[in-house]
Amino acid sequence: MIIAVDGPAAAGKGTLARGMAKSLDFAHLDSGALYRAVAYAMLRDGTDPSDREAAVAASRHLNIDLIDAPEIRGEGIGKLASAIAKIPDLRANLLDFQRNFARHPPGGVAGAVIDGRDIGTVVCPDADVKFFVTASDEARARRRVLELEGRGAPADLETVRADLARRDAQDRNRTAAPLKPAPDAHLLDTTELDIEAALARALEIVAQAHGR
Ligand code: C5P
Repeated sequence: MIIAVDGPAAAGKGTLARGMAKSLDFAHLDSGALYRAVAYAMLRDGTDPSDREAAVAASRHLNIDLIDAPEIRGEGIGKLASAIAKIPDLRANLLDFQRNFARHPPGGVAGAVIDGRDIGTVVCPDADVKFFVTASDEARARRRVLELEGRGAPADLETVRADLARRDAQDRNRTAAPLKPAPDAHLLDTTELDIEAALARALEIVAQAHGR
């Protein structure tokens, strides 16, 4: 079983996807970490961030262990990840890994939950259940500030709000796999929901869709 969870930055999709995977005993993949890992490798290796060929090469030779590295979590890496995520050949290099994870989740478990921007539209258009998770700009900015504070990187609310807006606009308006809900996605607005309520709602939808 494949569950796709898409949505803009800091809407709560990662927390929701992890929670679903834990409850259902499925594997979880944060696909954004792949783009972040490529961005991080470029910065680490002193690659010119605007060099498209070099970005494509970095995605081809990606060390997959980097997706778990805490170093890829910064806001600067997020920005560069979004910039290079526009490149079609780079996206193509990351497709096999994601599809393989969906079809053969590690540990031999019965399903995969993958979160990102294009999982329900491009990576796994045949996913069994699709979610598009949103929240108001205000709620998303507040959550990201709390998350950054939790990692010892305090941030200004207005700056974070502006950064998120810029990144979402870039992700929505690109030609290659833009951020948008799949026609058959369940829309989940988490503005007024805490994580327990959002998770309960999502699991209810999965149960209705697949009798689990
Ligand atoms: O999810 P996260 O914010 O960590 O992702 C970083 C960036 O990677 C996003 O802003 C987006 O540009 C890109 N991304 C993507 N497709 C995905 C996941 C992430 O283009 N499936």
